[in-house]
Amino acid sequence: MSARPGSWKLLLNNRLAAIGLGVLALTLLCALAAPILPLMQPDATALADRLMRPFEGGHVLGTDHLGRDLLSRLIWGTRVSIAVGVSATLIAAVFGSAIGLIAGYAGGRTDNWLMRGIDMLMAFPYILLALAIVAVLGPGLLNALYAIALVNIPFFARNIRGVTLGLSRRDFIDAARLSGKGHVRILLTEVLPNVLPIIVITMSTTVGWMILETAGLSFLGLGAQPPQADLGSMLGEGRKLLFNAPHVSLVPGLMIFILVMSINLLGDGVRDILDPRLKSGVLSRPAASTKVERQDTSPLTPGPAGTALDVRDLATEFRLGPEVYKAVGGVSFQLNERECLGLVGESGSGKSVTALSLLGLAPTPPGTITGGRVIYDGRDLLEANLGELRHLRGNRIAYIFQDPLSTLHPLFSVGDQIAEAVRAHHPVSYREAWAKAVRLLDMVRIPNAENRARAYPHQLSGGMRQRVGIAMALANDADILIADEPTTALDVTVQAEVLKLLNHLRADKQAALLFITHDFGVVSELCDRVAVMYAGRIVEMGTTREVLESPAHPYTRKLIACVPVLGQPDRRLDTIEGLPPTMNRLPAGCAFAPRCPHVADSCTKGDMRLEDMGGGHLVRCIRTQEVAA
Ligand code: ADP
Ligand code: MG
Repeated sequence: MSARPGSWKLLLNNRLAAIGLGVLALTLLCALAAPILPLMQPDATALADRLMRPFEGGHVLGTDHLGRDLLSRLIWGTRVSIAVGVSATLIAAVFGSAIGLIAGYAGGRTDNWLMRGIDMLMAFPYILLALAIVAVLGPGLLNALYAIALVNIPFFARNIRGVTLGLSRRDFIDAARLSGKGHVRILLTEVLPNVLPIIVITMSTTVGWMILETAGLSFLGLGAQPPQADLGSMLGEGRKLLFNAPHVSLVPGLMIFILVMSINLLGDGVRDILDPRLKSGVLSRPAASTKVERQDTSPLTPGPAGTALDVRDLATEFRLGPEVYKAVGGVSFQLNERECLGLVGESGSGKSVTALSLLGLAPTPPGTITGGRVIYDGRDLLEANLGELRHLRGNRIAYIFQDPLSTLHPLFSVGDQIAEAVRAHHPVSYREAWAKAVRLLDMVRIPNAENRARAYPHQLSGGMRQRVGIAMALANDADILIADEPTTALDVTVQAEVLKLLNHLRADKQAALLFITHDFGVVSELCDRVAVMYAGRIVEMGTTREVLESPAHPYTRKLIACVPVLGQPDRRLDTIEGLPPTMNRLPAGCAFAPRCPHVADSCTKGDMRLEDMGGGHLVRCIRTQEVAA
């Protein structure tokens, strides 16, 4: 399952890169086809036809001071410029990368010698160095090529050395060494494939420069020698006629611009695709809020009094290529004020996606909210714009996530991060926000809060970090807290403490809590009511007592039977046979039917409704009688 479209498609999605590719392809085609195109001789002089304007006398782009056809010279000149630029790039890439690979891999003295040599090359301004080299070797296209290639070797060498240095200390290189591979084989089969994208990126971003540099040398008369022309020498010849016949210099000048521009646009596009650091990031970075695409929605009617959050038929799906994963398929629940509602289910049942969809935090792409309403304070949050959502996020409705190490920023102290959460919603000074952060840390029972506020996340233990997460969620006195498995990453003793604290603070602050967990044991301690989720839908909901004491859905029964009970070591723990269905191929009828011990024919037909068994105990099962018996 790959969320990323193919490289080719990504490249074409990048409009600028696609334009670059198109223009470059056209230019290359013309340059390659030069011998078979019906062009005039590029070097044939005709003094009678000197300096003709474009479209005069059958010369589409006019002629130069010797009466040579400019179109023909342009195409042949482009051919030369591209050939020289690309060859110089290849030479620089091969030698530069080889030096970088060897220096980075060998390290120590070899590295030192090679890199000091490279430093010496870099000590001169490179265009001056190129000039000096050509001056020594004598003017000529080939010498210009060598000079350009030589002065560009350091770019490759330094870049590749840096990457290789990082790679060569990695475990897979050690493993290759242990398996008995020689240095050369390790370099070629382990290191090179990993730096190849970097080499290609460096090439694609430097080839445009190399063409410019070649043109520069030719412009100064050090590259292509008459009668041979490249774009630089054509520009140089046209320079003297700039005022009498501007087209003679404009034509090659524009061509250089178009060529280098298209190469650079394409190079940037290629870099974005190949750069491993951008792979899962920039190109498919999710939007700031989840896309909402609802067909028809029920009218916005006010919910019962005392509801903090009213979720109706919420549906969220993920579209990955042709597959559609219905992660949340019509979830309805009401979170009452000051209540703790537990949302329980196996991993992958859609709990997190439900919670994230409420404030448009499910990642788009690939996520889309396809239906339902989320009513808070008389408004449908799915209709709110980004500004309104931002105002609510962390302010009126706050989240506590599972792994505090990945939600806290590693480079800021925890005090700073809490202060930032405060200042995001309240116009207070930094000093006040910091004081509040310290108070919050104290409130979540972090000893010596004044000092601990200056600590970085990695300096705190897991339990401490989650307390910081809780402090951040409480920073703005939210009405609603959403805790997504806040204790799953913690060990059992710390878990109990954090839970107790969370419950205590919630009661203190009079906030409603949506508590997501896969653990019925935790629910029984914390929650007033519980909703059980399976395959993206709620299958049973009721007060915690009722659901725990008389579970009506076979899935709930199985879940409860999985929880060990303290003091009953002999109790047999049940397991649930089979696996949850995949969300892109949900079976018809009840999604639990394939694993259900009470399954009947009618279970796999039609849609199951959530039926009220009385007293607000809802169950999505048509065989509750048989299950109870
Ligand atoms: P859990 O109940 O364990 O919190 P989730 O809500 O995280 O489960 O996930 C529910 C389903 O949604 C998963 O089966 C997964 O296939 C799908 N899903 C979640 N996040 C993404 C995503 N970013 N891209 C694609 N599919 C996703
Ligand atoms: Mg989850």
